[in-house]
Amino acid sequence: MSTTQFTKDFTQQEPIPEAGIQRALEVMKSGKLHRYNVAAGEKGETALLEEEFASYMGKKYCLACSSCGAAMYIALKSAGVKPGDKVLCNAYTLAPVPGAIENTGAKIVLVDIVEDYTIDLDDLAQKAKADDVRWFMLSHMRGHITDMDRIMEICEANNLTLIEDCAHTMGAFWDGKKSGSFGIAGCFSTQTYKHMNSGEGGLLVTDDAELIARAIIHSGSYMLYERHTARPDMAVFESLKTQVPNYSSRMDNLRAALLRPQLADLDTQCRRWNDRYDHLERGLKQIPGLFVPDRDPREVYVGSSIQFSLNGRSEAEIRLFLDRCMARGVELKWFGNKEPVGFTSAYESWKYLGDLPDLPNTKRILAVMCDMRIPLTFTLEDCDVILEIIADTIKEILT
Ligand SMILES: *Cc1c(COP(=O)(O)O)cnc(C)c1O
Repeated sequence: MSTTQFTKDFTQQEPIPEAGIQRALEVMKSGKLHRYNVAAGEKGETALLEEEFASYMGKKYCLACSSCGAAMYIALKSAGVKPGDKVLCNAYTLAPVPGAIENTGAKIVLVDIVEDYTIDLDDLAQKAKADDVRWFMLSHMRGHITDMDRIMEICEANNLTLIEDCAHTMGAFWDGKKSGSFGIAGCFSTQTYKHMNSGEGGLLVTDDAELIARAIIHSGSYMLYERHTARPDMAVFESLKTQVPNYSSRMDNLRAALLRPQLADLDTQCRRWNDRYDHLERGLKQIPGLFVPDRDPREVYVGSSIQFSLNGRSEAEIRLFLDRCMARGVELKWFGNKEPVGFTSAYESWKYLGDLPDLPNTKRILAVMCDMRIPLTFTLEDCDVILEIIADTIKEILT
């Protein structure tokens, strides 16, 4: 048996581009870190980032926030979600998504998933029929994009307002249209483990003038919204400015300075992720006993992580597999753990939501699903070592 060891760190991101570091140093030397600390007519780094991201997304407006969780909360509030409303959401997502919904006082209605890890469109269509359901937060979890044509049909047929969580689909497309441009708002993360890295941060995009005006005021604009440049006419703010509370969730110029050169490189970075993803996917698909779902050709994903399932395997076998991979340096996450560990996303651990539904498919699929980060610091040769270790380990366990 081979004993090759993998020694690289699965959480090691690339450095911030030199241009971002230089710009951040200038911002620090100026002392003007707060986004509204600009001279008359001057555009700060945060405003520029918003303009550039709106343009990247082909959207009219953008708001930079302190996190994607904050952006989702503000998007829901600004779209009009009220306490007691019902918000549909796929059950396979990350904790900040149900958290943002809970924060509005709305009730989450979890929707099942299918074998390729995307939302169950039949369960969605069924649950969307209820008269009291008007909102839908779709999380493109781990970058898996479902059939957006059917999503939009279901939304239209049932008068649902869609908000997209694009934490893992920044730079991705469905059938030629950017992920995050389907719903009334799209929310993105710039937290270290997503597609651009400012430590923490979020971006909200929309074409809806009233939604963005509300969102800007909610984010904590202190009546300084004129200093935003990816915003509608000042008149839109007039009737809202004393009606919309401040939730202090702004981004600052330092983070925006780090992000602007990353945005300029984003499409190149997405291609680099996919080189690694496609290499890993090809290799994983050749390992007997592993299931890697096929992806729809209409989906242009960003492969910053990869998932596969050990269908039919017991909890004990999966634990053994994960432990042996880990012993050789390959760190895999598992969504089937009964106790929440690290970034685990099992909906059963969101007990604060009260009565949790029984979603047999979500439970069954997550129980055997493994998840691996693909940092850009890994080379294709690194991917080969990882594949070898996974293949060896599977063989040991299955024989
Ligand atoms: C990371 C993540 C978020 C939230 O991002 P933060 O910026 O950390 O709030 C939302 N949804 C998914 C699926 C995520 O992975």
